[in-house]
Amino acid sequence: MEILHVSAECYPYAKVGGLADVVGTLPKYQQELGNIAKVVVPMHRTKFLYENEWTVEHKGSINMGDRYLDYTIIKEKTNKLDFDLYCVDIYGLLDRENVYSYDDDTERFTAFQISVVDWLSHWEHRPDVVHIHDHHTGLIPFMMRHCFAYKHLSEIPTVLTIHNAQYQGWMSWDNSNYIPDWDTWQWGLLDWDNMINPLACAVKCADRVTTVSPSYMEELTTDANGLEELFVSEKLKCSGILNGIDTKVWDPASDTYILDNFSAEDAAAGKLLNKKKLCKDFNLDVKKPLFVFIGRLVADKAADLLPRAIYDSLNQLGNKMNFLVLGSGNTNIENQLEGLIGNFTGFYNAKIGYNEKLSHQMYAGADFILMPSRVEPCGLNQMYALRYGTIPIVRSTGGLKDTVVDFGEEKGFGIRFNNAAVWDITYSIHRAVELYDDKEKMTEIRNQIMKIDNSWEKSAEKYIALYKATQLI
Ligand code: ADP
Repeated sequence: MEILHVSAECYPYAKVGGLADVVGTLPKYQQELGNIAKVVVPMHRTKFLYENEWTVEHKGSINMGDRYLDYTIIKEKTNKLDFDLYCVDIYGLLDRENVYSYDDDTERFTAFQISVVDWLSHWEHRPDVVHIHDHHTGLIPFMMRHCFAYKHLSEIPTVLTIHNAQYQGWMSWDNSNYIPDWDTWQWGLLDWDNMINPLACAVKCADRVTTVSPSYMEELTTDANGLEELFVSEKLKCSGILNGIDTKVWDPASDTYILDNFSAEDAAAGKLLNKKKLCKDFNLDVKKPLFVFIGRLVADKAADLLPRAIYDSLNQLGNKMNFLVLGSGNTNIENQLEGLIGNFTGFYNAKIGYNEKLSHQMYAGADFILMPSRVEPCGLNQMYALRYGTIPIVRSTGGLKDTVVDFGEEKGFGIRFNNAAVWDITYSIHRAVELYDDKEKMTEIRNQIMKIDNSWEKSAEKYIALYKATQLI
C-alpha cells in the first residue's frame, strides 16, 4: 500500500512533542512491512532543513480567501529518514522557526492543507490512503470530498489519528472563505458550536478515526474538550491503537547521547555511571533516588503541581531524594521551578528549555520518572523510561493506564495513582523511596521493564489492517 502521512511535525525534522516521534517512526515500520509510506509537513526553518539537501518536487498556486499564494513542495534528497519526506514551502507563511504559536497559525495551517490537497490532485498516481494527524490537518478529508476543485480525490480513503483532542484548531466562520470553493450544503460538517472546528470536521469526514491508546479513545466519550457527543455518535469508526517507540533511536545499548551504554544485563552499573554524570552536572546527590520530569510545562501534564509536590516531598521526607526537571512551557510554572532551586541546593535542579540530548541522559540516569498528567493520550516518556530501566510513576489516565501496571499488582513494575493532586503525587514519591531501599526488588523490576516490548511492530500492523478496512468502504 502507499500511505501519505500529513502532519505538522516529524522527528528529526521538526519536533515539539510526541506527534513528531510518531510521524517520524510509524512510516519506517510501515515500510518494513512492505508498504510505501511518505510524510508531508510544513516547511519549518529547522537545523534539519539546513543540514540536508532538497529537490523541488512540485510548484503550484492556491487561493486562500482573497490571497493568491505560490507553494513549493520540496523533498529530502538522500532518504535520510528511510522514507520520503516532503515539505510545503509558502514564502512568508510556512518558512518560520517555530512549528506553532504564531498569531496567524489559522492561515498558516489552512494554507498548508490546501497546498497538500492541491499537490495531491496533481499526482500522476494516487496514494491508497491519506493519513492525517491532529487538527492541523483536519480539513483535508472535507476538502477532498466537498471542494469542487478536488472532488476527484474523494475516492481516496482518509484516516485521522488524534494525538491530542484538547486542541481543535477552532476558526471563526468569518474565515470560511479560506477553504477553496466548497459545497455549502455541507456546512454542518465544518461546524461545531458555531465555529469551524477542524478536528471535529475530521472526525466527521475521515473514514476511520484512531487515538493513540485504547483508554484515551474511551475517555474521549466523556471528556473531549466539548466533542464528547461527537465521539459517542462516531464510535463505530473510532478505535485506539497504542503508539510504539523507535527502538533503534531509543536504545540504551547504542544511544550516542548517553555517557555509558548498557543493557538489561549490566543495567545497575550502566545506570549508575549515567546517574553520576547527571548528579555531577546538576549538583545532586548520587546516593539518593533520582526523580525526573521531562516534558511540556503545561496543565495537561499537571506540571503546575510539580513545584508544590517537590517542595512538600523534600520537606516531609527530609531530602531523602533528588529531583531534576527538564521542560518548557507556561512561564509561571517555569519561574516557580527555577525559583525552587535555591531552596534545595544539592537535591533539586531544573533546566528550562528543550534539550533532546539531556532528555536521553535523564532517561538513562534516573531511577524514577514522574508523569502526573491530567491528560495523556498515549505518552511516550514512560515507554522510553522503561527501555532505559527507569521506573515510571504515572497517573492512571489514557495511555499511561494502558502501559504501566502498579508494582503492587501481579507482574506490576511501576507506580500508579488516581488523582492529579499534590498529595497523591507525594504519596507515590513516598512509595518510590521505600521501593528504592529494597535493592533486590529494584533490580528485579529493572530487569523486567527493560525487556518490555513497546516497539512499533505490533501497532504498525494494526494501522495497515485498518487501512485495508477502509479500502472496502
Ligand atoms: P506530548 O506529545 O504531549 O508532549 P509525549 O509523551 O507524547 O508528550 O512526547 C513527549 C516527547 O517530547 C518525548 O520524546 C519527550 O522526551 C520529549 N520532550 C518533551 N519536552 C522535552 C524537553 N524539554 N526537552 C527534550 N525532550 C522533550
